[in-house]
Amino acid sequence: MPDRRRLIVAGSRQFARPSVVRYALTQAQDGYRPEEMQLVHGQCDPRTSSGHRIPWRAAKDLPEMTQRLLYGADWQADFAAVELGWPEPERHPADWRRRHAAGPERNVRMVARGGDGGHAFLSAGLRNAGTVGCAVLMAKAGIPVLFWCDACCEAPPVPVSAFTPCETHQLDEVGATWRRRTGVLL
Ligand SMILES: [Zn+2]
Repeated sequence: MPDRRRLIVAGSRQFARPSVVRYALTQAQDGYRPEEMQLVHGQCDPRTSSGHRIPWRAAKDLPEMTQRLLYGADWQADFAAVELGWPEPERHPADWRRRHAAGPERNVRMVARGGDGGHAFLSAGLRNAGTVGCAVLMAKAGIPVLFWCDACCEAPPVPVSAFTPCETHQLDEVGATWRRRTGVLL
């Protein structure tokens, strides 16, 4: 198999803007053919707009129009990648029998497989701890990460800085965590 351009997505399971996720994937594909791209994500179950969790496999059986509206960055990226004609996404579901450690352990495994770029999708007003943790792993592995906020949705959407992410959307805690954990690395 030829080397593909590996794009790691980390994001809030409540990320509300599929158009922003799709835009980020489209931008990442710039200069490449769809079959050269490889999406990598953690397969977090999507949510309805009211916050109800839907198991991944059950969600795949829903009508396409419903699937398109579900929340969650992994889900939306998976949907967009398939629509854009990318190869089957590489999915890394966490082993939830391992409880709270499951997400972080999965992120370590996922990032260790390597990546050419990363996208972190943040939900406005939330701590986004898992997403930021995964973004820190990417940064420490030398993978450039772009951040996106689901309340910054002007067209075209622009990435927000990890150092001062959207103070208007109450993401300053994200910036503090990022600065503390990446330190002088970046
Ligand atoms: Zn914002």
